[in-house]
Amino acid sequence: PVEHQRHRAHCRGTRLPHKDGLQRPGAGGVDVLHPRAQAPDPSSVALRHDAQMENTASTPVSHADLRKRIAPFRVKPRAVVRLGDDSKDFDPGYRDQFVTRADAGLALAEGVRQLGEYQARLAAQSTYAVLVILQAMDAAGKDGTIKHVLSGVNPQGVTVHPFKVPSLIELQHDYLWRYQLQLPERGSIGIFNRSHYEEVLVVRVHPELLGNEHLPGAQTDIWKRRFREINDWERYLADNGVRIVKLFLNLSKQEQRRRFLDRIDEPDKNWKFNVADALERERWDDYQHAYEEVLSATSTKYAPWHVVPADHKWFARLAASWIILDALMDIDPKYPKVDPQTRAKMLEIKERLLAEGRHRE
Ligand code: AMP
Ligand code: MG
Repeated sequence: PVEHQRHRAHCRGTRLPHKDGLQRPGAGGVDVLHPRAQAPDPSSVALRHDAQMENTASTPVSHADLRKRIAPFRVKPRAVVRLGDDSKDFDPGYRDQFVTRADAGLALAEGVRQLGEYQARLAAQSTYAVLVILQAMDAAGKDGTIKHVLSGVNPQGVTVHPFKVPSLIELQHDYLWRYQLQLPERGSIGIFNRSHYEEVLVVRVHPELLGNEHLPGAQTDIWKRRFREINDWERYLADNGVRIVKLFLNLSKQEQRRRFLDRIDEPDKNWKFNVADALERERWDDYQHAYEEVLSATSTKYAPWHVVPADHKWFARLAASWIILDALMDIDPKYPKVDPQTRAKMLEIKERLLAEGRHRE
C-alpha cells in the first residue's frame, strides 16, 4: 500500500494529462468510441515538456490512467465496427496528446519498464499466462511492435510465434490445432504474430484456401460458425488462466502505400517487401470488411479486441504497451510467500551460512 501511494503521488506530480473528449458518445448505433485525431492542446504539451525537464526519471502510469487511455481502443461486444476513412470511431492517425515520437519516448520507456516488472511477478506466481494476439495488414508494424514492447522483459518468460501459410501436416488437423500447440505456459507471455484469426480473414478473402483444409461435408454458415468456435475456445482458455489480449494494428491505406514505397526504395528494406503483399493490397476493401466482422463478432468480455492506431509507429507501440500492461495489472500477480515451515528451514540455513563466514574470518 505504501508503494501504491508513492506510485499514485508520483503520477499526480508529472501526470500524463488526458484531454477531455477522450471518450465521446458513439454516433448512429455505434458504441465503440474513438476520437478522431485532434490538434493537441498547446498548454498540455507545454506542461509535459516542463515535467520532462524537471524529472527525467520515468513516471509510473497508474492503472486508472491506463484504463482511461485505452478505453477508446476497446471494442464492445457486438458493436458495429466501421474501419477506413469514414470511420467515426477508429482513426489510424490518432496519437492521444502526444505530438512527436520524442514526446512519447518517456511514456514508452516507462511502459516497457513496468511490463518487465509485472512479467517477473507473473513468472514467479506461475498461475496465469498472457496470450497477445497481433493482427494487421502488411506493413502495419507488427514486428517492430513486438521488438519494442518486449524489450524490457526477461526473454525466458516470453515466446513469439509467427503464423505463416499452414503446412501440409497442419492442414491434416482441425484449424485451431496449430494455435493450441503454441499457447504460452503458466507464468509466461506468448505472442501470436498473426493467429487463428487468419482462419476468418485471409481464408475468408480467399475462400479457395478452404479446399486445402480437408473439411468434412458441406460447410454451411462457416464464418458464423468459426466465430462461435473461436469464442468458445477463447472462453475455455480464459476460464483456465490464459488472459487473452487482442490487438488489431489499424493502418490506413495511404500509410501502407508510403511504407511499401519505402520498402521498395530502400535496398536494406527490400527483403521486407513481398510481391504477394501488393496483391493483398488490391483486396484492401475485402480485408477491411472481414476485419470489421471479426472485431464485431469476436470481441467478448473475456477476450476483447483493441483497435490500435498504427499510422504512427511510435504511438502503436505505446498503445500496445499500455494494453498489455493493463492486462497484467488486472492479473496483479504476486510473488509467492513461502510457508512457515520452509521459512524456518531457510532461517536455519542462514545461521549455518553466517557461521561459515565467521569461521573463515
Ligand atoms: P507475414 O506475416 O507477412 O510473414 O506473412 C505470413 C503469410 O501467411 C501471410 O500472407 C498470411 O496471410 C499467411 N497466413 C497466415 N495464416 C494463414 C492461414 N491460416 N491460412 C492461409 N494463410 C495464412
Ligand atoms: Mg508480409
